[in-house]
Amino acid sequence: MTEPARYRRRVGAARPSHLMFTSGVGSLIDLPNFSALVNGIDDWRYDKVGEYPQVIAEPRLLAAVQHMLGHSVHELKPAPWVPGTDNNPDSEAARIGVPVRPFPSWMRCTACNLLAPIESRAFDFENDRPRKPHEARFFHQCGRGNKRRLVVGARFVLACTAGHMDDFPYLEFVHRGDSCPAAPKPNLEMEDRGGNLGANVKITCRRCNSTRNISEAMGRRGQEHLPRCRGRHPHLGTFAVGGCDQQPHVLVVGASNQWFGLTLAALAIPSGDDQLANTVEQYWENLKAVPGLNMIPFMRTLPPMSYEFERWSDEELWAAIERHRAALDSQPANNRPDYPDLRTPEWQAFSSPTLPPPTDDFAAFRHPDGVPAQLKSVYADVVQAERLREVRALVGFTRLDAPDPEDPDLVIRAPLARSAPTWVPASDVRGEGIFLRAPEDTLAAWEERVGDSRAAIAHREAYGRFRKNRYSDRIQGDFDEYRGWPGMRYYALHTLSHLLIRTIALECGYNSASLSERIYAGDEQDPRSGILIYTAVPDAEGTLGGLVSLAEPEQLVRLTQRALSDAQRCSSDPLCAERLPRRPEDFLHGAACHVCLFVSETTCERGNRFLDRRLVVPIGDPSLALFQEIP
Ligand SMILES: [Zn+2]
Ligand SMILES: [Zn+2]
Ligand SMILES: [Zn+2]
Ligand SMILES: [Zn+2]
Ligand SMILES: [Zn+2]
Repeated sequence: MTEPARYRRRVGAARPSHLMFTSGVGSLIDLPNFSALVNGIDDWRYDKVGEYPQVIAEPRLLAAVQHMLGHSVHELKPAPWVPGTDNNPDSEAARIGVPVRPFPSWMRCTACNLLAPIESRAFDFENDRPRKPHEARFFHQCGRGNKRRLVVGARFVLACTAGHMDDFPYLEFVHRGDSCPAAPKPNLEMEDRGGNLGANVKITCRRCNSTRNISEAMGRRGQEHLPRCRGRHPHLGTFAVGGCDQQPHVLVVGASNQWFGLTLAALAIPSGDDQLANTVEQYWENLKAVPGLNMIPFMRTLPPMSYEFERWSDEELWAAIERHRAALDSQPANNRPDYPDLRTPEWQAFSSPTLPPPTDDFAAFRHPDGVPAQLKSVYADVVQAERLREVRALVGFTRLDAPDPEDPDLVIRAPLARSAPTWVPASDVRGEGIFLRAPEDTLAAWEERVGDSRAAIAHREAYGRFRKNRYSDRIQGDFDEYRGWPGMRYYALHTLSHLLIRTIALECGYNSASLSERIYAGDEQDPRSGILIYTAVPDAEGTLGGLVSLAEPEQLVRLTQRALSDAQRCSSDPLCAERLPRRPEDFLHGAACHVCLFVSETTCERGNRFLDRRLVVPIGDPSLALFQEIP
């Protein structure tokens, strides 16, 4: 279902990483004159990309993707892209890109109001200005003297909670579910009398004069006027066999709930200081089929094996292969529908008494003086990560509801490809970071103290209501509304992380959107106490080393003191300081708001939820604070 060759022209430009995560496979992209849908990965072409990297190596993330999508996946690939497209629109490079198709396919002539699908051939397409791809447009020759009139996308689509998306069924809708009594394929007309809200968009059949307003399809009652979902995945060009049981909803193009990417992200962490084991893990796909020691000489004739394992003897290499195989076999079978655990190896690497030896992707050090004396009550450990590499992979997407961060199966994930994918889109970025560990005994004592507090109960109950309100109608059988409750420890560490991020942005001129966080809070069986604040965004400001230097003793003392003392006040106090979710409210923060704690969406790992200043510094009831005194 690729577009005819004449349409294989650029219709816009976007960053490769943007096309993965902000609007990836299956999402609608608004262009000036119509909207386009990003095709599934079956249609992505790499044959012209040439020498530019086509594979991103990150074994730990690849294993996690396989855990979710199956072992057919054996590669992570960047979006097809080569430099130079902006300067020379006629170059080969300009023909490489992420393929899209116009969607919805129904369009409206802005002059005569004719409403017709692209397939009807009522409209023509023009995209002949290579330097201005965004001027691509459809037109209708209905003006006097065959004047070309602009045609725009009809902005309504249907979507269901199973991730399907379809054109709005204008023909059936205007004829109230029947066919037109006057003609098999009558021309329709769409009169858009104001805004996109649908309240005043009238559809008329030009043959039988039936007319109906789109508002009749909106909202819960409007759903009854819509046909059942046809199970369409327009990014794949497929329809579900037998349709779909979900009731579709009307969406307007541009609605933020049309697409939510489901991504996995891992830091490249050396899995130990055993170089041979690391290299075996990295090349496991090439090595796993080696049947015995006697095949190793042959394997060594093939690159990259010919040079990657030069340092080791055949016997050493074979022993390492057998060790790796045994380790894989002893892993318990993964049949729980859970996200793969990507955090444990990171936590282990950062909290280990001996940090892993530096590699191209990872270099972390402890300051020789240790944690500054004034901060011993706040941090048990400080690690400066000079080099970090984060790899992110797209494993699917959802519509209408965002994926549940705890339960991948709760919101139905739409596939990236027509069959089991052999690769998924990924991107990698390099950066640096600071890892901070809070003292375990302080945290444990604080948990004892606040565990049954009114604040803790309010937060936990709000979490239960939050899940029930969103998901309970999706679940048959038992629904554990507290599944994935992150625990009070998470609130405290997460709040501390936001306080530091905001102070770093304020003091050091970092754009806070270029910072990211990872919270290592563990669970009751395996309590953890770490925060990683890092830069890992494409085109991060070129201040490498700036973030790491903030972990130097003097800077860290100043930064931490300011973060904690600022936390005691918010200009929205007392409103902010007193906030706690009360039934039936289901927001997931306490004393936290845009003024004092929230950060940009790209920075926070949990959408600015699970935050409460009163759990970190004394405001109101001081016994709730993790740090009762500001250092
Ligand atoms: Zn027209
Ligand atoms: Zn009709
Ligand atoms: Zn459906
Ligand atoms: Zn506030
Ligand atoms: Zn956050």
